[in-house]
Amino acid sequence: MIELKNISKTYGKKETAFTALSEVSFSIPDGASVAIVGKSGSGKSTLMHVMSGLDPATEGQVIVDGVNIAGMKAKAKDSFRSKKMGFVFQSFFVEANQKVLSNVSLPLEISNVRPRARKARALQALTQVELADKADSRARNLSGGQKQRLAIARAIVNKPSIIFADEPTGNLDSETGDKIMQLLFNMNKKLGATLVMVTHDHDLASMCDIKVYIKDGRLEKITGAAKAGGKK
Ligand code: ADP
Ligand code: MG
Repeated sequence: MIELKNISKTYGKKETAFTALSEVSFSIPDGASVAIVGKSGSGKSTLMHVMSGLDPATEGQVIVDGVNIAGMKAKAKDSFRSKKMGFVFQSFFVEANQKVLSNVSLPLEISNVRPRARKARALQALTQVELADKADSRARNLSGGQKQRLAIARAIVNKPSIIFADEPTGNLDSETGDKIMQLLFNMNKKLGATLVMVTHDHDLASMCDIKVYIKDGRLEKITGAAKAGGKK
C-alpha cells in the first residue's frame, strides 16, 4: 500500500518559492491501477516524483508498505526503490552513451543481481518491448519511441511491485502506445503490480481502478478508491 499523508511540495526559496502540491492525502491499495489526471502544470509529475521517493516532499509523509521513505538514508532508499519500484519518467532517463542492454540492467545492478542473471533478464525485458535487436546499440541512437520502450523495459526488468509511469505513451504512435499499455496493464492484472500513471488519455484513465484528479496542486477528487480497496 502507498499512503500519502498531507503532502506539500514547494520548489525554490523565498521570492522564488512555488508551491506545486498542497496538503495532498490519499492511499492506494496493492495491485490497483491508478490514473493521475489534471491540466498541464497542475502538479502531476511532482506528485509522481514525491510518491516514488525520487524527490522529497517539503511536508508530509509517503509511506510505502509501512515504511516512511522520507526517513530512509540515501543508500537504503535507492535499494528499496530499485527492488520495489519501476519508473517510466521523462526526467529520469537513460544513460545516453551506454548500451541499451546496460541501461536495462541498471536496476538489477543496484539490487545486486549477479551479472549473468542480469543479462538474461535484461534481454527478456527488451524482448517484451520488442527491442532485443537493439541490445548492443548506444541508447542515444534510438528513436524517441524506442527510447520510451527502453524506459519501459528498464521499469519492468526487476518485476517491481509498483510501476510509476509519467505519460508512458506520450511520444509513441498509437499502435506502439497500445502495445506498451497492454504490457503495463498485464503487469498489473497478471502479476498484481500496482500501476500508477499520469495520462492525458481519457480512454486509458477510464481503464484504471482509481482516478486521482489534481488541480492547482490540490487533490480535487479521487474516484474508485473504495472499490479498488475492497477487491483484495
Ligand atoms: P504537470 O506534470 O501536471 O504538468 P508539474 O508537476 O511538472 O506539472 O509542475 C507543477 C508546477 O510546478 C508547474 O507550475 C511547474 O512549473 C512547477 N515546477 C515543476 N518542477 C519545478 C522545479 N524543479 N522548480 C520550480 N518549479 C517547478
Ligand atoms: Mg508532467
